[in-house]
Amino acid sequence: MTEEVKLTPMMKQYLEVKKQCQDQLLFFRLGDFYEMFFDDAITASRELDLTLTGRAGGNKEKVPMCGVPFHSADTYIERLVQKGYKVAICEQMEDPKMTKGIVKRQIIKVVTPGTITMEHAVAAKQNNYIGCIMQQGNMISLALAEVTTGECMWMACSIKQMEEKLFDILSVYTPRELVIETMASSQQSRVKRFLDTRDWSCTVTAIQRDESIAYETLPVKYFSAQAVEKAKPVLACIGVLLKYIADVMKSEISHMNLLIAIDYTKQLVLDAASLRHLEVTQNVRDGGRKGTLLEVLDHTQTAMGGRLLRKWLESPLLSIGDITYRQDSVAELVQKVTLRQDLVNILSRIFDFERILTRIEIGTVNPKDMVALRESLAALPAIKQYLAQTQSRMLKQLATQISVHDDMYTLLMRGINDNPGTVLRNGGVIRSGFSAELDEIRRLAADSQTILQELEATERERTGIKMKIGYTKVFGYYFEISHANTKPIPDYYVRKQTLVNAERYITPDLKEFEVKVLTAQERMLALETALFATIREDLQQQIAAMQETARALAQVDCLVSLAVAAQKYRYIRPQLNTERTILIRDGRHPIIERFLKSEVFVPNDVQLNHNDHEILVLTGPNMAGKSTYMRQVAVLVLMTQIGAFIPAKEASICPVDRIFTRIGASDDILTGQSTFMVEMKEVAYILKHATMNSLLIFDEIGRGTSTFDGMSIARAVIEYVESKVHALTLFATHYHELIDMSDKTTKIKNYTVAVKERGKDITFLRRIIAGGADRSYGLHVARLAGVPESLLSRAEVILKDLEAAETRPCRVSVSKEVVERNIDLFTNPIIDALVSVDVMALTPIEAISFLYKLQTEAKEGSGMK
Ligand code: ADP
Repeated sequence: MTEEVKLTPMMKQYLEVKKQCQDQLLFFRLGDFYEMFFDDAITASRELDLTLTGRAGGNKEKVPMCGVPFHSADTYIERLVQKGYKVAICEQMEDPKMTKGIVKRQIIKVVTPGTITMEHAVAAKQNNYIGCIMQQGNMISLALAEVTTGECMWMACSIKQMEEKLFDILSVYTPRELVIETMASSQQSRVKRFLDTRDWSCTVTAIQRDESIAYETLPVKYFSAQAVEKAKPVLACIGVLLKYIADVMKSEISHMNLLIAIDYTKQLVLDAASLRHLEVTQNVRDGGRKGTLLEVLDHTQTAMGGRLLRKWLESPLLSIGDITYRQDSVAELVQKVTLRQDLVNILSRIFDFERILTRIEIGTVNPKDMVALRESLAALPAIKQYLAQTQSRMLKQLATQISVHDDMYTLLMRGINDNPGTVLRNGGVIRSGFSAELDEIRRLAADSQTILQELEATERERTGIKMKIGYTKVFGYYFEISHANTKPIPDYYVRKQTLVNAERYITPDLKEFEVKVLTAQERMLALETALFATIREDLQQQIAAMQETARALAQVDCLVSLAVAAQKYRYIRPQLNTERTILIRDGRHPIIERFLKSEVFVPNDVQLNHNDHEILVLTGPNMAGKSTYMRQVAVLVLMTQIGAFIPAKEASICPVDRIFTRIGASDDILTGQSTFMVEMKEVAYILKHATMNSLLIFDEIGRGTSTFDGMSIARAVIEYVESKVHALTLFATHYHELIDMSDKTTKIKNYTVAVKERGKDITFLRRIIAGGADRSYGLHVARLAGVPESLLSRAEVILKDLEAAETRPCRVSVSKEVVERNIDLFTNPIIDALVSVDVMALTPIEAISFLYKLQTEAKEGSGMK
């Protein structure tokens, strides 16, 4: 290009580098700054509020430019990455002082939303996932990795199951970055469309596979043979992800060593909607942690435990054996008060060393991290001692997985100072006594004042001249001798500078001293850096072992946390049964009971079983507590299945394979779908996927349409569940007309929320009792809400009129003729025949001949020609 010809050499170099990172913002190191140019500069100045300037680039027009100081670059990088950008860091690979012409520059790493490891960039108690999606024929594979902890997960499903499997998993783990490889463009746009409608931001990169690489062999290097064997169908997908991570980080990632299958058959599956409705880890209000089950249960002391507890909540267990395994340990920790408190105290001294280990592996560990690791290791012997007292299998097992890492602790103790600061370049990191050479240089630096005084005294004595030692940046050290001096100056004094009334000299001794002192600082830093690196390398050898300890500690922390919650909020241990029964006496909603201000929470019982309590139809006024009650049942089941104790007097629970919730109606503005459409989609999804081992929660079905439509749909849904799905179901409705459904089958039971009526006022008693509500109490609730009294009086008149006019369940007024014609229609023999035939029992031929007969009859006899 003719334009490029005119560019300065630096700009040419910049453009060369930029070619390698088109979709990234390039931080280009120039001296003490990282500079950005052209569009990158415009974007960064907008996103980071930086002043946009221009730099002469060779052409007439200046090149847009903005920059950040290199020592504070991390915070800027973090901010850009938080916003979904990828940032390429280009460093100077040579010392500019030693180089003629243009300094060699190279991209040393790329920081992306899914691979960022800076301490403050990722929430301590939350995982930060990066994922890879790949299509092979009809199968979709997903690999998810958490770079900061070294874990990898995978799953596979058919293209057909993308919605309920792939998208659900993505909604649960909310990866910040997705790599998409070899996928049909239609599937790719499906994924994009899905991500566009979600409330978390995810940076998507489509990448091309390099045919020369055998991706499916890559995981073998990282994970256990057993884990790799299990993951066989998705190895290529995992390989692509590992390669991508290593490429952008441009470092070793052998700390990635745990591979887990996301196994639908081993866990209670919570779809994204249910996680949200039940406020498991995010509240409905703003997606935050406040008012969630996680907040109530999280008494973990370490960030590692905090992350794991979240994971436990997102993937509860299914097998009674697995649940009991955890429960036994929680029970032991509830019972042994001192042990629990001791563990809480000692765990609180443990830092997030799982993530520090990652920083050791990729080489970004700082001195403060080293001290944090040391403090954490220091706590391990005590933890092992405490765990040695335990009886339950899980705690005993965890005790064996925790090592004390003596040698690493000693190394850090010997090598690193107590308060080393966060950066190496300020020095003072390595403890004295660790390296004789370093101690010597340090002594020299510290003693320089004394040595100077000695030098001065010696020279005075030797020459008899009065002189003083001084220092300037330009001339270095010198002896200053005033013109008043009359003695001859010795030969070995070399004059450096003449002042108005004095001369400055240098001597060989002084020169030697100067070289030593001036380089001491540099040498000290270089040596400290080298020693720090050797300590890092020694630690690196033990990363896998320390990771095992960290992962075991996280589990101990979670168990202790559940025990603390149990003790603090008076939870009990639920029994487990295989009789497909849920029985809870005096259950409470763990979140609502914590956040109620003036009222006390009213406990309630529940009984669900497949004989006579399969479907509970819950009627009662709005605001009475139906929704809370149903969620309470779901939440208690979920808590039970993570091994937690629950707020109740007594409970026996059969683990369920899925919890489905259809709650509340909020327009999905993002996808532009109406409330009713969203509602029906959720209903369709539930009915399609629920099994007889599922727990179903329906809160108000058919609200988004007309009364008749809504009521018919609600009724039909209950019938469908009762005859086809057989899942344990709670169904709340304001259609009190539905209470007659219990007449037809013993499986359906009516419940209602007790209210106390006094004249026009009602009080909610929050007590769930057997029986159905006979009306909706809409006006009472409106009164409670403060609707003007005159309006309510008018509404009462209208209601009375309507009720008086109501002879059939139809509330629409219709003309006499229409009614008569309708009655006529209902007595028509053709209709009768239609109603009585069992369509499903007909063969196609029979159906056609039946239809033919009906048509002939219609044409002949009924005036419908
Ligand atoms: P509904 O679904 O019947 O409209 P909700 O379940 O939303 O009613 O309950 C309304 C409010 O009543 C809740 O926000 C809560 O503050 C309170 N509430 C519900 N159940 C109880 C209870 N068992 N004890 C105390 N307060 C309750």
